[in-house]
Amino acid sequence: MAKQKKIDEKRNKTLTYHKVKITCACGAEYDSGSTKEEIHVDICANCHPFYTGESRLVDTEGRVERFKKKYKLK
Ligand SMILES: [Zn+2]
Repeated sequence: MAKQKKIDEKRNKTLTYHKVKITCACGAEYDSGSTKEEIHVDICANCHPFYTGESRLVDTEGRVERFKKKYKLK
C-alpha cells in the first residue's frame, strides 16, 4: 500500500504544470511551461531548416531538376 501511495505522489508531481527548460540538440535552451520536468528536442527555431535557410537549397535542387528535364540531361 505504501508503495502505491509513493507512485501516486510521484504521478501527481509529474502532472503538475511548471516551468521547464527545453534543451535542443544544437545547444539552444528555452524556458517554457510543461508538465514535464525537462524537454530535449532535436530541432528548434535556432537550427530548423526553415530558419537557417536550408529550405532554399531544396528549392535550388528542384530548379536543377527542371533544367535537366528541359534539356533532356541525365
Ligand atoms: Zn536547435
